[in-house]
Amino acid sequence: MLELVASTATHCPYCSLQCGMYLIDGDRGPTVAPRDFPTNRGGLCQKGWTAASLLTHPERLTTPLMRDHKGDDLRPVAWDAALDRIVRAIRTAQERDGRDTVGIFGGGGLTNETAYLLGKFARVALRTPQIDYNGRFCMSSAAAASIKAFGVDRGLPFPLEDIPGAETILLIGSNVVETMPPVMQYFDEQRRRRGNLTVVDPRATRTAQSASLHLQLTPGSDAALANGLLHIAIRDGLIDHDFIAARTTGFVEVRRVVASYWPERVERLTGVPAKQIEAAAHLLGEARTAMVLTARGTEQQSSGVENVLAFINLALALGKAGRPHCGYGCLTGQGNGQGGREHGQKADQLPGYRKIANPEHRAHIARVWNVDPASLPGPGRSAYELLDTLGEAGGVRALMLMGSNPAVSAPRVGHVRERLAALDFLAVADLFLSETAQLADVVLPSTQWAEEEGTMTNLEGRVLLRQRACDPPPGVWSDTQIIAALAERLGYGQFFPAEPRAVFEELRRASAGGIADYSGITYERIAGEDGVFWPCPNERHPGTPRLFLDRFATDDGCARFMSVQHRPSAEEPDNQYPFYLITGRVMTHYQSGTQTRRVKELHDAVPQAFVEIHPALAQRYGIADNDAVRLTTRRGVAIVYARLTTTIRLDTVFVPFHWGDQACVNLLTNPALDPISKMPEFKVCAVQMEKV
Ligand code: SF4
Repeated sequence: MLELVASTATHCPYCSLQCGMYLIDGDRGPTVAPRDFPTNRGGLCQKGWTAASLLTHPERLTTPLMRDHKGDDLRPVAWDAALDRIVRAIRTAQERDGRDTVGIFGGGGLTNETAYLLGKFARVALRTPQIDYNGRFCMSSAAAASIKAFGVDRGLPFPLEDIPGAETILLIGSNVVETMPPVMQYFDEQRRRRGNLTVVDPRATRTAQSASLHLQLTPGSDAALANGLLHIAIRDGLIDHDFIAARTTGFVEVRRVVASYWPERVERLTGVPAKQIEAAAHLLGEARTAMVLTARGTEQQSSGVENVLAFINLALALGKAGRPHCGYGCLTGQGNGQGGREHGQKADQLPGYRKIANPEHRAHIARVWNVDPASLPGPGRSAYELLDTLGEAGGVRALMLMGSNPAVSAPRVGHVRERLAALDFLAVADLFLSETAQLADVVLPSTQWAEEEGTMTNLEGRVLLRQRACDPPPGVWSDTQIIAALAERLGYGQFFPAEPRAVFEELRRASAGGIADYSGITYERIAGEDGVFWPCPNERHPGTPRLFLDRFATDDGCARFMSVQHRPSAEEPDNQYPFYLITGRVMTHYQSGTQTRRVKELHDAVPQAFVEIHPALAQRYGIADNDAVRLTTRRGVAIVYARLTTTIRLDTVFVPFHWGDQACVNLLTNPALDPISKMPEFKVCAVQMEKV
């Protein structure tokens, strides 16, 4: 029986905008209402409006499940039996083959408290380096590029409210009209003030259609386009020499490299007419204020870091960074994609955005955790590398997974499903029996957003409080309770508080002095101030909505130009696989669809996966609207339904990634990794198609 604590101010469970909402008690169960919060100003998308229906969903997991042997069915068991089984599996694997054979896989939707505790659990209770999370598949390329160029990674270095003050915005690889509709209020206001928007996207999405200029580039040619824009900016005297001299280093080499990206060559590389490239460069260069914003389209490539660096070079050369209403920013994706990567869930990081390989950083965290620094493991494998070696000699043999569904969301997912099945032991904590949970030996039912207290950090770097609005169903535990209970059984109970407030107090101390410093942030401040922006080093500090106004976060305070050359995607179309396959989202679904496919309104709006094909291309293959289409790549085969549209390029097809089984586009995607961020190339591969 659901017991609601009246109307509670909280935030949407889904994307990084973290729209403010109320959860309201009602005769017919819980509902949500929009809340006037700085990110959404009272707006919600359809996902937010329908989020409460999942709290009482009939498919909700409410008891632990366990299978006695591989091949047996999952059966309900008591919590003690499930937790004991997990601990037995951990001990068996570690005693037999060493500590590194146990791994943890987390999620970008987990609260900061859970992400922090999960990272600590891996390093202190399991002493394994093998922990990473699905956020690696999301913003890791932008994060790596921002650290290289600016010395710090925060999605947006300014609040959303600054967007209307930008005369020009260059938006690369984002369909915000569909992915986070309430944010369009800021873009609409920008255009009401006579601002303009240039969108770079292989598809004429609704966002691109709303823009002043759309550059419909060839998939994978992003860096060439960025270099071409900078070439024109230099040629036409649009760059800001004073800014470059005073606040940056490395421009000379970048200028040398982009000299070979003249417009006609870039037109050949990108498919974008030279005249459009020139127009875009002038819109940016002639504006007094401008922003360059990237998202997954350009980041989820094997050259994702270089792509982002090339666009950062452009912003720096134009003097459009570190000034009001200017800057480079990344529109993060997952609800806590930002905070999830700041507090130790990533293979190479410790809380506060510290590096696990740095002796001083290790010493600080070990002091807070009251352990010997030498006992902390070193860096582990990145997400795909970890999944790729599951069950193999030298790989992880027992895996615990929280808030993630890699059996749908990982690249080359057929292989990843095989690796998951090859594990000696898999435990999954989730709300529903996801595709990954179906493969598990033990499944733990966990709480949803409205049932647990905790903080999230949105795309602006604003730390938010999700208040507990209702009790979970009987038998459902929070993630922090689960971690603390497992730690207790492993003999480390004294290190692991289960209450989110206690965890956050420890997180504050652990992050103190780090790049992502939360030490001045309290639950009370967050609630009273509409969130607090990090870094916030003490309780009298106001927080930092705007970074870089005086200096960048590098040793000398200067931003770094990094020269980038265009290089082709890991897999380009050829005779056998003649088209580009690109992937993305639709408005009514979220990530692997574990939640949104179970919401009737959202399911009914888009019930199945589809492939967008240009009508002229479809005609060549005898494909009509709604025909079943078999898509094949070197990784596998998927069956989806045709949706004919002139908004897609003739050489490209698009499939959204929210579905499992045979409609899962990740059966097709290429796990080629960016060498720096280890981001898989979700966004570009070569495909062939035929009517089924
Ligand atoms: S835009 Fe994102 S945070 Fe806002 S309601 Fe939609 S899914 Fe939720």
